[in-house]
Amino acid sequence: MRGELWGSYVACTVVVGAQFGDEGKGRIVDYLAAKADIVVRFQGGNNAGHTVVNELGTFRLHLIPSGIFYPKVKCLLGAGVVIDPTALLEEIASLEKASVKTDNLWIDRRAHVVWPYHRLLDGAGEQKGGLGTTQRGIGPVYGDKASYRGIRMGDLLHTEVLKERLERILPLKNYEMAFYGLAPLKLDDLLTQTEEWRSKLSSRIIDSIPMLHAAEGKGKRILLEGQLGVMRDLNWGIYPYSTASSPTSGGACEGAGLAPQTIADVIGIVKAYTTAVGGGPFPTELQDRDGERLREVGEEYGATTKRPRRCGWLDTVVVRYAAALNGFTGIAITKLDVLDQFERIKICTAYDRNGTATTDMPDTWTLGTVKPVYEEWKGWRSSSTKARRWADLPQNAQAYLRRIEELVKVPIKYVSVGPQRETMITVAGS
Ligand code: GDP
Repeated sequence: MRGELWGSYVACTVVVGAQFGDEGKGRIVDYLAAKADIVVRFQGGNNAGHTVVNELGTFRLHLIPSGIFYPKVKCLLGAGVVIDPTALLEEIASLEKASVKTDNLWIDRRAHVVWPYHRLLDGAGEQKGGLGTTQRGIGPVYGDKASYRGIRMGDLLHTEVLKERLERILPLKNYEMAFYGLAPLKLDDLLTQTEEWRSKLSSRIIDSIPMLHAAEGKGKRILLEGQLGVMRDLNWGIYPYSTASSPTSGGACEGAGLAPQTIADVIGIVKAYTTAVGGGPFPTELQDRDGERLREVGEEYGATTKRPRRCGWLDTVVVRYAAALNGFTGIAITKLDVLDQFERIKICTAYDRNGTATTDMPDTWTLGTVKPVYEEWKGWRSSSTKARRWADLPQNAQAYLRRIEELVKVPIKYVSVGPQRETMITVAGS
């Protein structure tokens, strides 16, 4: 049985964005976290923007796992995450201001630090014709990690080592900054900054392995929360319009420090249509009234950057690709209610590539030239937001969902029909 390992029962569930990001992962993690013991963010940084709506208010989490609202749940920023300590401290402060306790937030000592020079270089790069990044320093910090110029959260606790590392790294960074016409940063300023980080964060910096592995032995449930979506994966996404880490289920094991056999479930989060922020190909993007309507009704504006999102019909070539790469055991459809008033709804089932239909994922540049092959479905023209069981959904909505299942070949486990906690259907028998 999957999840049974070395005599101990483990049950990890990974939540993966099946499209270009912003699928509504935060909301699904919030829902699933109620039954979890530990929630781990396994990659990315504060370029994410997960929205959680609950009785305490509406929260936009950028770094902190969406399990933070459950006091008994341990929340961990895993080794694969990159952390801007100033942004993290701000997020902790804003949660505490709203009476959300953060005592259960932990940071693996291996997570890398996003320094001010990473942010500055990211911003400067974007101004020189970048790829549409969120300018949070994420690409530069992962670049430094891979070229051994990174500094880890645990290094903040070794003051001498930290000073030596920064002394070596900073001149190189200042050289890069000069290329963009940016003023150099001073070592002393950075060291002073680290004192605040150390004093406020050191008690949360741990080796997460004992915590996670002890949980395994006791049969606890671990929820692994990714950021962005498969199409932004560093290897499998639309490179170079990708992120610098891996939001897939494979990336979850790597970023959290859990073996593949511990994964019992992989839930792909699929928005009922498609959105994207930033550059890169997007075959089903709509430049017409339907696109505007999706943006307005779905309130499709970035949680981190407030940028208007690009909107289009559901692309099942993308979702099927994501399902194969991640081994989805189920999918969660979000924002079905946004389609409630559309007369006709389209689903992309294949790409037309120079007159030949294909369901394979072409390379980034070819993906920018394909034409979506659409099926047209009749809308339901009634509200789905009150539905709490599958049978409550309008007939045409059920037909639309069944067709998605058929095309993607993965059962639908959850259907979200509104942003609130209770606006969720758990599909029986899946
Ligand atoms: P994430 O980054 O994948 O967590 O996605 P975001 O939080 O950026 O985007 C999801 C947005 O849609 C948030 O504003 C959610 O509150 C909202 N949302 C999530 N699920 C639903 C849903 O089923 N219906 C509606 N109307 N809004 C939803």
